[in-house]
Amino acid sequence: MTLRPAAWIDELRGSLDNQPLILSPIGDGRVQALVGIDLEAAGRLLLRLEGKDPQGRAHVRKWPIRVRSRRFAVQHLTLPQHMVELDPETATRVSEEAGRLKALWKAVTPERLWRGAFLSPVISGAKPEGFGLRRIINNQPRSPHSGADYKAAPGSVVRAPNAARVALAEEQFFAGNALVLDHGLGLYTIYFHLQDSLVKPSDLVQKGQEVGRVGATGRTTGPHLHFGVRLNGARIDPAALLRLSLR
Ligand SMILES: [Zn+2]
Repeated sequence: MTLRPAAWIDELRGSLDNQPLILSPIGDGRVQALVGIDLEAAGRLLLRLEGKDPQGRAHVRKWPIRVRSRRFAVQHLTLPQHMVELDPETATRVSEEAGRLKALWKAVTPERLWRGAFLSPVISGAKPEGFGLRRIINNQPRSPHSGADYKAAPGSVVRAPNAARVALAEEQFFAGNALVLDHGLGLYTIYFHLQDSLVKPSDLVQKGQEVGRVGATGRTTGPHLHFGVRLNGARIDPAALLRLSLR
């Protein structure tokens, strides 16, 4: 969101449902904040802004923001039960891997590494598909598809959509070769099923840098890039991030 606070406002701060907003000045008196709304969010959020006038008096404004729920397609799958149920050892592994990702979403790097618009992670021009798809496997609802899938030939280049630090590069049961980039200020991008990743944890990567290659590792029906975006923990539509005009 972009705001233009009164010119006399000093020490401007904001929050959305008690989550602090990181406001960056973008010129001619305007400030911008990236706000992520989770794919399953609905209802009312409270935007709160406060600042001080030249006499040091506090001014507070609040606006309710209505989030309309978005409808997503439903996919029913029938699989042999042995493919759905995990043996205890694998179940432990999967929950540890999920735990490592969850811990990342909570860690907010205070520095903003990204600059300007985000690039598509694949160059082929393929469209991201299937964000939010509600999957029902053998009549059991599963968590919705939290990323978007790009069809691409195995070995196709995956590039960093913006500058970042590598937060995770490891092989996981479902995700296969998984890579997570930390762009700072709570923004992460996620890459699953890679043939290989070309970077390692803590590496700094530049916008457009080749970070991996499309593959079919982990649980997948074929080669594609699963691309996800987290912003302060919210699972957001990658297409929405790529559409933003950012300064
Ligand atoms: Zn996917």
